[in-house]
Amino acid sequence: MKRILITGGAGFIGSHLCERLLFEGHEVLCLDNFFTGSKDNIRHLLENKHFECIRHDIINPIYLEVDQIYNLACPASPVHYQYNPIKTIKTSVMGAINTLGLAKRVKARILQASTSEVYGDPEIHPQREDYWGRVNPIGIRSCYDEGKRAAECLMMDYRRQNHVDVKIVRIFNTYGPRMAVSDGRVVSNFIVQALRGDEITVYGQGGQTRSFCYVDDLVEGLIRMMNSEKDFAGPVNLGTPTEFTILELARMVIRMTGSASRIVFLPLPQDDPVQRRPDIALAREKIGWEPRVPLEEGLEKTIAYFQQVL
Ligand code: NAD
Ligand code: UDP
Repeated sequence: MKRILITGGAGFIGSHLCERLLFEGHEVLCLDNFFTGSKDNIRHLLENKHFECIRHDIINPIYLEVDQIYNLACPASPVHYQYNPIKTIKTSVMGAINTLGLAKRVKARILQASTSEVYGDPEIHPQREDYWGRVNPIGIRSCYDEGKRAAECLMMDYRRQNHVDVKIVRIFNTYGPRMAVSDGRVVSNFIVQALRGDEITVYGQGGQTRSFCYVDDLVEGLIRMMNSEKDFAGPVNLGTPTEFTILELARMVIRMTGSASRIVFLPLPQDDPVQRRPDIALAREKIGWEPRVPLEEGLEKTIAYFQQVL
C-alpha cells in the first residue's frame, strides 16, 4: 500500500485514476483547485477512509508525505486553457517545480502528464517520441504546448541534477465518462450537441485527424508507466493508434445517438494540428501496454454517461 498524490485528481482523467488506485488498495490524496474539475467527479470516493481531497492551487508549494506523485493539474481543453493563458503556463511550470520539489524532498517517484501537443502541428506521421515537434512558440495554443514542454524539461533536469525519479507520458486525445458537459473538447461537444439536438460544430472542413483513447486504457498506461523500471523515464506516448477525421467522428456520434442534429462548419482555430496519431511501439516494448477499447465501444459508454447527466 502506497501513499499517492494526484494533482488534478478531481478532473476527468484524475478522478478515474483516484478510483483505480483506491481499488488497488492504495491511500490516495487528491489535490485540486476545481478550475475545470468538480466535486461531483469524486463525491463517491469521499466516504472511503483511504481517500482525502485537498483544495490547493499547485502554483503554490505544498508539503506532504507521499511515495508517488501523478502530476495532472492543468486545464486540458483549448477553451479552458486559453481562458487565462498566463495562469495555464504558470500551472504547468510552477506546478512541475512544486511537485518536483516535493518529490525531491520526500524521495517520491513523480509522473508528469505531458501531451501530444508537444509535437505541435507535426511534420512526421505517426508521431514517435524522438520527434522534437513543430510548436508555434507565440500562438494561442503556446501557453499549453510550451508549458508542457517546459514541464518535461524540468522533469529531465531534476532527474539529471537532483536524481529525482521521474516518468513522463505524452497523452493523446483521451475521452470518456466524467468529461464536463462544458469541457469544449470534440468528443464531449459532439455527444452533448447530438443528445440535445443542437447543431454539430465541425471546425474547418473536418478533414483534420485525431486518435481517440478511452479513459480506462489511458489509466492503465499511467499506472504501468509509474511502476516501470527505475532507469526508464520516458517520455512515452499513450494513445490509441487508430486515426479518424473529425467529420468521421461527427457522423459516428450522430449515427450512434440516433440524433436529428445537422453538421455545421465553423472556422478552424489558429494552429489546429492537421494530423495526429501516436506511434506506441515504445509503450508496447517498455510497459507492455496496448489500448483495448475500440472507439465505437468507448463512445457507447460515454454517450450513456452524458444521457444520464443531461
Ligand atoms: P481536466 O481539465 O478534466 O483536469 C484537469 C484538472 O486539473 C482539473 O480537475 C482542474 O481543476 C485541475 N487544475 C487545473 N489547474 C490547477 C491548478 N493550478 N492547481 C490545482 N489543480 C488544477 O482535464 P483532463 O483531460 O483530465 O487532463 C488531465 C491531465 O492530462 C492534464 O494535465 C492534461 O494536460 C493531460 N492531458 C490530457 C489529455 C486528454 O485528452 N484528456 C491529453 C493530453 C494531456
Ligand atoms: N473540434 C471541432 N468541433 C468542436 C471541438 C473541436 O471540430 O466542437 C476539432 C478541433 O478543431 C480539433 C479536433 O476537433 O481539430 C480536436 O479538438 P479538441 O479540442 O478535442 O482537442 P485538440 O485540438 O487539443 O486535440
